[in-house]
Amino acid sequence: MSDGASSLLRLTIDLEAVAQNHLSLQKKVGRGVDVAPAVKADAYGLGLAPIAKTLYQNNARHFYVTHPAEGAALRALLPDPNVHIYMLHGMIDGGAEDALHHRLTPVLNGFSDVEEWAGAAKRLGKKLPVVLHLDTGMNRLGLGAGEVEKLSRNSDLLSALDLRYVMSHLACADLPDHPKNKEQLEKFKAARARLNLPSPASFANSGGIFLGADYHFDQVRPGAALYGIHFTEHGKGTMRPVVSLAARILQIRTIDNKESLGYGATYSVARPSKIATVSVGYADGYLRALSGRGHLFVKGIKCQVLGRVSMDCIMIDVTDMPETPKVGDWAEIMGPHQTADDVAAAAGTIGYEILTALGARAERYYKGQE
Ligand SMILES: *Cc1c(COP(=O)(O)O)cnc(C)c1O
Repeated sequence: MSDGASSLLRLTIDLEAVAQNHLSLQKKVGRGVDVAPAVKADAYGLGLAPIAKTLYQNNARHFYVTHPAEGAALRALLPDPNVHIYMLHGMIDGGAEDALHHRLTPVLNGFSDVEEWAGAAKRLGKKLPVVLHLDTGMNRLGLGAGEVEKLSRNSDLLSALDLRYVMSHLACADLPDHPKNKEQLEKFKAARARLNLPSPASFANSGGIFLGADYHFDQVRPGAALYGIHFTEHGKGTMRPVVSLAARILQIRTIDNKESLGYGATYSVARPSKIATVSVGYADGYLRALSGRGHLFVKGIKCQVLGRVSMDCIMIDVTDMPETPKVGDWAEIMGPHQTADDVAAAAGTIGYEILTALGARAERYYKGQE
């Protein structure tokens, strides 16, 4: 990493804030409940290695990834046998030996997955660790009601497996008053009872944690809250922001009345204007949907994005700044004045998409790393 002298785009990730957020969530759910971070998709784009290590140092021992390759990468980072790694998409081509080799636990998302893993367990002469995913209303992954019935009539399949958790996932956890939350909770309890499963349960993502203790069971699986995005009212103010992004001003241009800016000439200035061209674009995760809608902060002053976002740069209006900024000054994209959730709102999306879109081009600084 350079000293930043020639850097044009700087992504700062506050590992202390991640650790604090983890601690806050652990306090919220109490000591009897495991906080199992979701570190899928490169820890929501923030970097698997520094995030996972920080969480491990703060006593996280259960982690969720999506792909088997993510699981293998995480295992290499955290060889501790007390670290448990669950793969949300399971292993659809078999691969029980591979999973054993890396000590990865698949989430079984359908009846045929259960059959396959029970078969592999018998073949290998081992009770293989698994998580059983019951669908309670997402209709995305997990055993549906019919499959739960079928499984209850084939209980020998489960006895071949080392069932670590039975889990489900909420569709509307970010909407505390949505009736679907309670419906899913009741369906989950009924399915567990139907299968007569004594195994521990995992139900809540970040939003679910804020729905209260009924939703916590034995393990919670937060991602968003750890990374400081919480577009929901009920979580507001409790989590610390983790991400800041700043880009440098490349040029200041003086534009005449009625001149247009950028691709498609979609915006024409209505007055003689001072325009700063800033080194961030959609290739950096500054979504094109922010064209004409986003804002940056220069020396704490809000400046509107004008015209289209291009691949590598954007233009902002600095006409009304008391002092015209200089080439090389930093403009805040996310930071003290606006969060990832604010940027998401302007783009018509959610903080999750903003974080995971942050590209590889920015120079990364990890604050609070050992
Ligand atoms: C991504 C994911 C999580 C984490 O969700 P957040 O809303 O980021 O807390 C938990 N469970 C499952 C099944 C997921 O896919």
